Formats: sequence, structure tokens, C-alpha cells
Amino acid sequence: MSKGKLFVISGASGVGKSTVLAQVMAKREDLLFSVSATTRQMRPGEIDGVSYYFISKDEFQQMIRREEFVEYDAHMDNWYGTPRAQLEEKLNRANVILDIEPNGAFAVKKARPDAVLVFIAPPSLEELERRLRSRGDTDEEQIKLRSARVAWEMEQSKRYDHIVVNDQVEACAESLLKIIAQVAD
Ligand code: 5GP
Repeated sequence: MSKGKLFVISGASGVGKSTVLAQVMAKREDLLFSVSATTRQMRPGEIDGVSYYFISKDEFQQMIRREEFVEYDAHMDNWYGTPRAQLEEKLNRANVILDIEPNGAFAVKKARPDAVLVFIAPPSLEELERRLRSRGDTDEEQIKLRSARVAWEMEQSKRYDHIVVNDQVEACAESLLKIIAQVAD
């Protein structure tokens, strides 16, 4: 039995998930972040080994062959996966947060039924589209693609243990902290 509890958080880009997670992690030192491996390009401000392990498609394939992932999935032309050894090592020390999309979340739940799945939802699809547009860095075709993906993710949210609506970051972080406290304290 591992020492820590496992929390799996999903939510579409534009939903403010990373801001919420940053607030939650700042308030609980017993939470460790599981660092995924990805083949996507590093974005400004990201740090290799902290945000993600940025690896090549070849390296990713090798990790799949060596069965080094708890789960992995393709998302928007890139691969993302949760490295098994790192997750187990962290769970032996503390509680762990995974930030992964629904296919990965369900795979984790299958492997570890005690994992707690939390979905962070936008107030509405219209609001999410508005947020994506207001960033100003996404073209119309991308917005349509992402909205379709979000609609699918919202459909999957029914299978989560908890759904938290991100109307306001602070309130959303508080709700998430309550869920974590219920399970971990
Ligand atoms: P981004 O490229 O914006 O950082 O992440 C895109 C999506 O990939 C997000 O929904 C994020 O939760 C998901 N993701 C990140 N790491 C993993 C992972 O290890 N496995 C899976 N299945 N999804 C992941």
C-alpha cells in the first residue's frame, strides 16, 4: 500500500485549471505534482522536469515499449504519459496530483480504483469560448476544435467522482481543497 492518496484533475485549457492547481498546491505542502512526459514543444515559462519531461517521439515510443507509463494518450497531435516509477516514488512519500485528460484519468482509475477523479468545468461552453477568444492568441479554427474537444470532455465529466465549476478561481480552489481534505486528512 502506498502512503499517499492520488487525485486526478482534468479540465480543458482555458478553464483556468493551472491557476486553481497552483493555489491548491501552495496551500497544502503534502501534495506533490506528478510530472508527465510529453512530445509537445516547451512553452515560454515552462521548465523541463518541472512542468513536463519534454522528450522526443522516439523516446516516448521506447517508454511505451518498456511499459514505463501508467497511462498515455495522444492529444492535439502530441503524446502525453504518466511515468510509473516517478508516480510510485511520489505516492510512497505524499499525496499526489495528476493533471491529465479524461482518457488518462479513466485508465488511472482502472489501475487504482482508490484514485479520486475531479473535473474542473467552465461555467458554460459559451463562457469558455469567450475566455479562449479574449486571450487573443488562438485562431477561429483552433477555437472551434478546442470547443468540440471541451464538449466531449464535459460529457466525460459525468464519470468523475466530483465536478467543480470554475466560476471564480478562489472559490474553485477552496472546493478542491475541501475534497482533498475529506480524503487525505
Ligand atoms: P497542455 O499541452 O496544455 O499542457 O496539456 C494538454 C492536455 O494534456 C491537458 O488536458 C492535460 O491535462 C493533458 N495531460 C498532461 N499530461 C498528461 C498525461 O500524462 N497523460 C494524459 N493522458 N494527459 C495528460
